[in-house]
Amino acid sequence: MGRVYNFSAGPAVLPEEVLKEAQEELMDYRGCGMSVMEMSHRSKMFDQIIKEAEADIRDVMGIPDNYKVLFLQGGATLVFSMIPMNLSMHKNKVADYIVTGNWGKKAFQEAGRFITANKIASSEDKTFTYIPDLSDLPVTDNADYVYICQNETVYGTTIRTLPNTKGKPLVADVSSMFLSEPMDVSKYGVIYGGVQKNVGPAGLAIAIVREDLIPQEDLADVPVYLQFKTHADANSLYNTPNCWDIYMCGKVFKWLKNMGGLEEMQRRNIEKAKILYDYIDQSDMFTGTVRKEDRSVMNVPFVTTAGDKDLEAKFVAESQAAGMENLKGHRSVGGMRASIYNAMPKAGVEKLVDFMAEFEKKYK
Ligand code: PMP
Repeated sequence: MGRVYNFSAGPAVLPEEVLKEAQEELMDYRGCGMSVMEMSHRSKMFDQIIKEAEADIRDVMGIPDNYKVLFLQGGATLVFSMIPMNLSMHKNKVADYIVTGNWGKKAFQEAGRFITANKIASSEDKTFTYIPDLSDLPVTDNADYVYICQNETVYGTTIRTLPNTKGKPLVADVSSMFLSEPMDVSKYGVIYGGVQKNVGPAGLAIAIVREDLIPQEDLADVPVYLQFKTHADANSLYNTPNCWDIYMCGKVFKWLKNMGGLEEMQRRNIEKAKILYDYIDQSDMFTGTVRKEDRSVMNVPFVTTAGDKDLEAKFVAESQAAGMENLKGHRSVGGMRASIYNAMPKAGVEKLVDFMAEFEKKYK
């Protein structure tokens, strides 16, 4: 079997156990004579799949009862629009955004199409290489919420201390750190993310929304499909959902439970990230691009200290030949980026560091 170590930022590596299970069930899901891809979303079988998936993510994350779990289509990008539409358009039409990378910036720009979006903090002055102090921000008096992208996938930063929102609901895009560590859901109004990084195949976003933030009236100027209430009332079965993806995410939730849950996942993720960052920090050839205390445990960008583009291209080509895929940095940052999500084994990171050491010897 020719599996590589896949360092892609997303769609990304999935647990092999999960892929094998899906393979075994592909032709005949538990004796029903068809695959989950062919099954009615109104069938008993699928009903059990989606209910179990919801129960398992609730269990894994410790989601309080007053939060809805919504399985949505359109990716995290459509949620960028749903947030202002559901949380603000019918209220004060004002929200505050903390912009620490391109994903937060995109969400901010999208909100500006519907409401007054204020940028109350940004790290763009230093190309998003750090997290600003978020302890005392000029939160707008009538802001309906404060928004963060908690892990910026491209720049490789994480907000570790949540902002002081001065009582406003906190909305967080956690796409690239979903289920990588325990989170206190009760500190957030909305937590959401696309699943294609740490959770499942591309094609689904999961939004965890505090019930009191879901408008109960029909919002005349918001398409029915973009109202949280539509999906909350129908238990994510308003129309045909991405059944296959919900099934795969459900398997990943069970895999996480078997691995020991999010605390164990966090321990493993920190261990893996430390191996890589420790190597980068002592290296004469490579440099991390992010301020140390703000570094992401999931996405690790690095460049050659000399800024040598040819050498970086060589690194990407030679690492690929050695069985490590997708180490090229995002087009807006350049250099290299290793995304080391939950399903990346420690052996993959060790292999990368061994390769880096060899490469450094060869080209120093
Ligand atoms: N937010 C973050 C943090 C992301 O990394 C991405 C995708 N790379 C998105 C949002 C957009 O996600 P989607 O492609 O699911 O719309």
